[in-house]
Amino acid sequence: MFPVMLQLAGRRCLVVGGGGVALRKVQALLAEGAEVVLVAPEAVRVLEELSDSGRIVLERRPYEEGEAAGYALVFAATADREVNRKVFEDASGAGVWVNVADDPELCSFHMPAVVRRGPLHVAIASGGSAPFAVRRLRRLLERLLGPEWGEWMDAAARFRERVRRLGLAGACREAAFEAWFSATVDTERHRARVPAASEEDALLERALAGAPVCGREATEPAAEANVSGPGLVSLVGAGPGNPGLLTVRGRRRLMAADAVVYDRLAAPALPCDLPDRIELHCVGKTAGRHPVPQEAINELLVRLAREGKRVVRLKGGDPFVFGRGGEEAEALAAAGVPFEVVPGVTAGIAAPAWAGIPVTHRREAVRVTLLTAHECSKRDGTQVRWDLLAQDPSATIVGYMGVTVLPSVVERLLEGGMDPVTPAAMVERGTTGAQRSVVATLETLPSRVSEAGIRPPALFVIGPTVGHAERLDWAGRCPLVGRRVLTVAGCRWAEPLELAGAEVIEAGVPVTPAAEVAVNALPLTDVVVGTPEDADALDVLRGGVGWGNGVVVWCVGEAVWNRVRELGWPGARKIGGGHERLVERMGAAVAVPG
Ligand code: SAH
Repeated sequence: MFPVMLQLAGRRCLVVGGGGVALRKVQALLAEGAEVVLVAPEAVRVLEELSDSGRIVLERRPYEEGEAAGYALVFAATADREVNRKVFEDASGAGVWVNVADDPELCSFHMPAVVRRGPLHVAIASGGSAPFAVRRLRRLLERLLGPEWGEWMDAAARFRERVRRLGLAGACREAAFEAWFSATVDTERHRARVPAASEEDALLERALAGAPVCGREATEPAAEANVSGPGLVSLVGAGPGNPGLLTVRGRRRLMAADAVVYDRLAAPALPCDLPDRIELHCVGKTAGRHPVPQEAINELLVRLAREGKRVVRLKGGDPFVFGRGGEEAEALAAAGVPFEVVPGVTAGIAAPAWAGIPVTHRREAVRVTLLTAHECSKRDGTQVRWDLLAQDPSATIVGYMGVTVLPSVVERLLEGGMDPVTPAAMVERGTTGAQRSVVATLETLPSRVSEAGIRPPALFVIGPTVGHAERLDWAGRCPLVGRRVLTVAGCRWAEPLELAGAEVIEAGVPVTPAAEVAVNALPLTDVVVGTPEDADALDVLRGGVGWGNGVVVWCVGEAVWNRVRELGWPGARKIGGGHERLVERMGAAVAVPG
C-alpha cells in the first residue's frame, strides 16, 4: 500500500449507490471540492437535497456497463455485489482507482481513517485488514491531538513563508525550522502551541544573525524579520472560574499572547501552561492591594498594544456582561487600537447550572433578566424596574454583585407584589471547588444567606426554575464536590477527578508564574502527585495562599510517597495499587480547604 494525498478539487468522481454509505463518500468528496456524479435508481433524502441544490449530479437509474471510465476516482456502495463487481471491473479495466465499500478484494485503494486539525491530516490505515483497530486508534489520536494542533500547523505554514521570503540558505533555514519546532512543541506531553509574533521575530532574528555563516541567498532587508504586526487586544472571557470553562478560542489567544492583563475573578482560569515569556499584569483587587482604576487599565491596554504586542485582557465570565468590557472596548476604539472580543461563559448562566438551576424551562420561565443589583444602593434612584420584574412570574432574575444588596432587592420585589414563596437561591463561586449555594424562597433568602455567611463573588437567582435545584443538583451529588485539586498536566487522573466533581488544576512542570496565580486564586483541598519529579516541581507552590496546611496530598505509588515524606509535606497519604482507587479513596476522605 502506497499512501498518497489526492488533490480532488474540480476532479470528476463517480459514486454508485444511493444509501447512507454512498452519502458518506459523497460528503467526503464534496469536502475536498470534487465534482460528484451519483448513479442510483433511488437515493436517500439528503442525497436528493444535494442534487436539488446543484451540489451533485444525481442520475436516477441503474449503473450502466462501462461508465466508470473517465473519472478520477470511483466508489461503489450498492447492496448488490454483482453491480459492485461490475463497477470494479470497469474501473480497473480503464485504469481508474476504485473502492467498493466493505469489500477489500474489490478495492484498488482504501480510505484511511483521518484525524483532522485544520490543515493537519493524520491518516491511519491497516491496508483494509483491521478496520476495527483503525477506528479505535483514531479515537485515541482524536483525544491526544487537541484542537491547538490545527492552529499550530497554520502557524507553521506562515512561518515557513516568512523564512522562504528571507531567502536563507538551506542549513540556516533548517536551523530556523528546528528552533521554531522546539519552541512550539512539547515532545514529552505531545502539546503544541502557536508562538507569539514577537517570539517568532526573535527566532528569525537569530536565524538571520547566523546567516553570514550559513550563507544568505537573497537580499531581503533584514528588517523584515522584525516586523511585528500592529498590536491587538483580545478581550477574552475567562468563564466563571473553573479552568475547564475557558473557551478554545480564548485559550488560543492566551497561548499566543505577549501580555495578559487579568483581574481577580479571571485568575483561577489562567491556563497553568501559559508560557513564562508572557508578561502577566494583575489589575484586580488582591489581599492588601487596591484595584487598578479603570482609566489606568485602559491606558495599560493601549500602551501594550502600541508596543506592537498581542494583548489578552482576561476578564471573569463574559467580557461584555457587567465586566466593564464595553468601556475597555470604547477606550481601545477611541485610541485606534485593533481589538476583538472572545465571549466567555457568564457566571449568571454557569453558576446556576452548577447548582442544578436551569435559567429557562419550558412553561415555567421564558425570559431571563441578567441584572446588577449593585446599582440599587445608589442614592439617585434606581435603573432597575423592580416593580415590573415583580409582576413577571414566568421569568428568571439573575442578580450579579448581589450579596450586600440582597435584603433591599427582596424588599422591593415584595413591595412590587412578587409571591414571597417564589423559589430563590444564592450561588457563591459557582463552578469552582469553593462553590456554595443556598436555596430558599424569596422571603427567606436574605436570612439564609447571612446565616450561611455567603460572600462575593456570588449571585442570586429568583424565579420558578430555582425549584428544580434540589432534584437537579448534579454537581452536589458528585463524590468530590467541593474539592479543588492540584495535579500535574498529562496525568491519567485529571478526567476521572473532574467527572467525580472536583475542580482540577493541572500545573505544568516546571511550574509557571501563571500556574502560581491560578493555584493561589482560591484555596486547594487536595494535591495528587504520581512521580518524585512531579513532587519536586510542585514544591514551590507549598505554603502559598492556595496550599495551606489542611491540604491532603495523595501520593500515587511508593516512590512519590517516599519523596513527599523527604520533602516534609504534611497531610500525605499513600495510594497503593494504581490510580484506579484514587477517586474512591478521595471521596471517602472529608476535605478541609487549606
Ligand atoms: N463578567 C462577569 C461578571 C463580572 S461582575 C461574568 O460574565 O460572569 C462580578 C460578579 O459576577 C460577582 O460579584 C458575582 O455576582 C458574579 N460572579 C462572577 N463569578 C462568579 C461565580 N463563579 N459564581 C457566582 N457569581 C459569580
